[in-house]
Amino acid sequence: MRIKVALGIWLLGITLAWMAVAPAEMGVSPLVNAQGAALGWWQLRQHTIYVSGLWSISLMALIMLLALRLPLLDRLMGGMDQVYRLHKWTGIAAALTAIAHWGAKESSGLIKSFWGRAGKPEHDAVIPWLTDARGFAKDLGEWAFYLLIAMVVLTLIARLLPYKHWRLLHRAMPLLFLALAFHAVALMPLTFWALPLGVIMAPLLALGSLAALWSLAGWVGRLRSHAARIHSITVLGDVATGVEAGAPIEVICAMPPSWRGHRAGQFAFVRFDAAEGAHPFTIASAPNALGNSPEGEQLLRLVIKPLGDYTRTLQRQLRAGQRVDIEGPYGRFDGEGSRRRQQVWVAAGVGVTPFLALLEARQPGIVPADRDAAPVHMHYCTPHAQRDPLMARLQDLCAQAQPPVQLTVHCGAQGQRLQPQDLQVGSAPLDIWFCGPQGLGDALHQHARGPSRWRLHRESFVMR
Ligand SMILES: Cc1cc2nc3c(=O)[nH]c(=O)nc-3n(C[C@H](O)[C@H](O)[C@H](O)COP(=O)(O)OP(=O)(O)OC[C@H]3O[C@@H](n4cnc5c(N)ncnc54)[C@H](O)[C@@H]3O)c2cc1C
Repeated sequence: MRIKVALGIWLLGITLAWMAVAPAEMGVSPLVNAQGAALGWWQLRQHTIYVSGLWSISLMALIMLLALRLPLLDRLMGGMDQVYRLHKWTGIAAALTAIAHWGAKESSGLIKSFWGRAGKPEHDAVIPWLTDARGFAKDLGEWAFYLLIAMVVLTLIARLLPYKHWRLLHRAMPLLFLALAFHAVALMPLTFWALPLGVIMAPLLALGSLAALWSLAGWVGRLRSHAARIHSITVLGDVATGVEAGAPIEVICAMPPSWRGHRAGQFAFVRFDAAEGAHPFTIASAPNALGNSPEGEQLLRLVIKPLGDYTRTLQRQLRAGQRVDIEGPYGRFDGEGSRRRQQVWVAAGVGVTPFLALLEARQPGIVPADRDAAPVHMHYCTPHAQRDPLMARLQDLCAQAQPPVQLTVHCGAQGQRLQPQDLQVGSAPLDIWFCGPQGLGDALHQHARGPSRWRLHRESFVMR
């Protein structure tokens, strides 16, 4: 909802600014005059090209800014996963508006074949020193548009390209933005640079271009990156069947003095290997819960499940003492909702990691204990409760939590599938904190939108 509202306000703002500089008489009516000239159609085409182009390039500039992982945006959107969702939906909106822009441009053949060229407006004057670049700017824009659409298709139909390759391609997106920003600057009518549109578009294109260059230089998150080292690694569960059984590894990281701590439930981008790049992992320990290393470095825990190509290699590759770059912390998944609502935590699979940190923060002796925290009912969905390497730890943490956390386990092997309606006990509306697979999250979301009056806080583990 917040994302739709943000995008709606953005597009409305650009439309109003465009209307302020557009000609008072749009000239679209009649579409075809008594002499058979399609003056109105040509004008309509022209206005559509301009407004859809402005929508599209402004959305792309927003995408570039969102990709910077700015702490301010993290705060405004209620979590970095939400910033990424906005980034994704802005990408889709930019592609749809770019299709409208391209479609309007291509409509000239159709208009000509029905009504002829009569009434087609002359080219608008553009920034004088870019007049000669019109042809190049048009071609560049067209090719960048095709690549943009291909990228959006590859993003939405995930099975077409493995994440690893998709991510490499995606890193080239700032280049497309720079090409499209040039297209926009070279072809935008001179009159559009006047107030108020020019005052919006000029800084937006400049900031978007700076953000694109920042991304291309590989500096995203640089100011929040900390050179840590691996303190220890443990395979959780049965080492003999380890990887096949999908056993997670626990990586304890020793943080440098530059690390200013985190809050329970936050995550970080972790880079074990410069060639691979950073992967997001939850910090699965409460602040100060693990104490310090003998060298005085603050310790924190990651619990990593071998879910994909890269994470499957980590058990073999990681060594104690190895350098690890940790960027963050990010996120606002604090498990603390309204006092008037019943607090329910729902974890499934590796989605249990933020709850490990939240539970640890409720253990006696962990400083500072949050006296205002409310009692919680936690539901944990696991494929096999008896073989789950985190089960015993989770049960202990829940049993000792202050304020209390009541645990209900849903074991897949015993056919105990969690249904959204199972969560409602009593009549108080629920505050649900969910982390787990997309499907279960969507089912909870559907239910929360109904008459149940639930509030769903969701940590999304999918960034594509
Ligand atoms: C906020 C957040 C917190 C997470 N916390 C944990 C955790 O505590 N423990 C854990 O085991 N997993 C966690 N994950 C998931 C973890 O990031 C992926 O499982 C891991 O990156 C998979 O990498 P892969 O190359 O092995 O898998 P692949 O087979 O390459 O990809 C599998 C899926 O993982 C995701 N993914 C892969 N690489 C990245 C990346 N660089 N950035 C973002 N997503 C990626 C994509 O959705 C992809 O479809 C978290 C994800 C997010 C977004």
